[in-house]
Amino acid sequence: MTAMDVTVLTDAARASRGTPPAAGALIDGRAIAAKLRDRVRGAAKLLATRDGFVPGLAVVVVGHNPASEVYVAAKKKMAAEAGIRSTDHRVPASASETDLLDLIHGLNEDPRVHGILVQLPLPPQIDGHAVIAAIDPGKDVDGFHPLNIGRIASGLPALAPCTPLACIELAKSAHPSLAGLDALVIGRSAIVGKPLAQLLLAEDATVTIAHSKTRDLPAAARRADLLFVAVGRAEFVSGDWIKPGATVIDVGIHRVTRGGRSRIIGDVTFEEARKVAAAITPVPGGVGPVTIACLLANTLKAACALAGLPQPQA
Ligand code: NAP
Repeated sequence: MTAMDVTVLTDAARASRGTPPAAGALIDGRAIAAKLRDRVRGAAKLLATRDGFVPGLAVVVVGHNPASEVYVAAKKKMAAEAGIRSTDHRVPASASETDLLDLIHGLNEDPRVHGILVQLPLPPQIDGHAVIAAIDPGKDVDGFHPLNIGRIASGLPALAPCTPLACIELAKSAHPSLAGLDALVIGRSAIVGKPLAQLLLAEDATVTIAHSKTRDLPAAARRADLLFVAVGRAEFVSGDWIKPGATVIDVGIHRVTRGGRSRIIGDVTFEEARKVAAAITPVPGGVGPVTIACLLANTLKAACALAGLPQPQA
């Protein structure tokens, strides 16, 4: 089974017949993530029984950030369920860059560690670029190391960043082939927008990247068959920006309080967008869970590559 097979099957079947998915179909990130995690679990189990080998993920957390803690706990729980051994490395918020680099160098040398994840953001006294550049590129399961970014841009095999990978996975659940589709990525961050654009090019989509200086962004959005929104502004994209029948992937995550209740929303005004789009990811339950599943898949891939083992197909 390929990653592409973990689809909302009715939509995939429609798309493969050349007809668009039903209007407003939800792209179920939780279901797609669960299938991807199942595949990782199956492969890890085979590795354990065939080779006596357990993939290891080191999670580095600097200081205490309540939002980060939630993500770290979710990542560790899902790693354990997938048969990946995760270890916690806690560093005080007052730590120096040298302290953190020493920890990274130790993890680079540790043969039980195949993936290193440094939870961002880092405190201001630490240069995040220096820390990411210090990670062994073969253990860079977040896919942020300049070597991996460069290899992706060159069309070479690499560990790709997890959120862009998740976006591709979700888009392909609605369109098994992205070839020739007009894709607009709103946002050009190094961790989402730029690598996503490279992955879309590798899928033969026709890619435009928009940012804060883009002129007439709504018009650009209305031309897009595939609209990826990673702006970091709650409900930034309204329904009238969306081309009828488009597929919308909402990367944004915002906690807001409405009517006295706290809830999570995205960068897209969901209810409006849903009426126009053919397929759309919800927030929560869209990009987020698939991103974590892609982290586990990257850890498995890194572990097999470092150990010189073929990646089992579960
Ligand atoms: P970021 O680094 O703040 O980048 C935001 C991008 O949006 C920038 O390129 C910026 O343009 C662009 N932008 C801002 N205002 C704009 C405007 N008015 N018009 C057009 N473009 C505009 O954000 P990020 O790290 O990529 O994250 C984006 C969102 O995704 C956030 O809500 C974040 O929480 C979420 N996220 C989710 C996941 C997940 O797993 N689900 C992972 C990562 C991030 P300039 O470059 O011109 O400033």
